[in-house]
Amino acid sequence: MNTTEKQKTRNRPYGDQVAISLLAVFLILAVLVAMGIYIKRRSLPEYVGRTLTEAEMQEVIDRNSPLTTYVHLSPNADFPRKSEIKKITIHHMAANLSLERLGESFGRIDRSASANYGIDVNGNVALYVEEANRAWTSSDAENDNMAVTIEVANEEIGGDWKVSDRSFDALIDLCTDICLRNGIEELVYTDDSQGNLTTHKMFNPNTDCPGPYLGSRMWEIAELVNERLRSE
Ligand SMILES: [Zn+2]
Repeated sequence: MNTTEKQKTRNRPYGDQVAISLLAVFLILAVLVAMGIYIKRRSLPEYVGRTLTEAEMQEVIDRNSPLTTYVHLSPNADFPRKSEIKKITIHHMAANLSLERLGESFGRIDRSASANYGIDVNGNVALYVEEANRAWTSSDAENDNMAVTIEVANEEIGGDWKVSDRSFDALIDLCTDICLRNGIEELVYTDDSQGNLTTHKMFNPNTDCPGPYLGSRMWEIAELVNERLRSE
């Protein structure tokens, strides 16, 4: 046996030990991650993270906006929210997703994102986080604890990120309904986070959400909703 062969004989068991140790560490980590996901899912309120029956869906809608036609409750939320509802925050999807597709995306725990409501390009309304809970939407816990957050689909991808007239009208209806049911007497838009009608980019300098089109119509949104509130 020459020196190289002796070395090999000595190193082989050591190499095996390292491989076995690494495998053990990997397995332990995998079990811990699986346990974490299991515990998180188990601690979620009933109805969250699964397909609901018609009756369950109706029960959920009865506690939220009657304008809702689709429900898929996201696990990405704080249950319940920590503050009373005083605000509305508008977002755009930066995409033209169906309500189901947006629900799938908010259903992923690893995405850590959600919104209370979504509006598709045809003006249909979905509920992803019940109003009693805080959605993870605006990069600001304080805002989202006080706000009902809404994602609106874009009919134009890029450019001004226009939203359809049907989506815009549904947004006015939904904001009015949220105000009426939660005792918000007036929506105040101040172009900064002081008002009670806010946007994502007020809290995160790295986003342009809700895009130029909705951004330029925020004053009008407040005005249209307030007109409706006054006539109620
Ligand atoms: Zn946003």
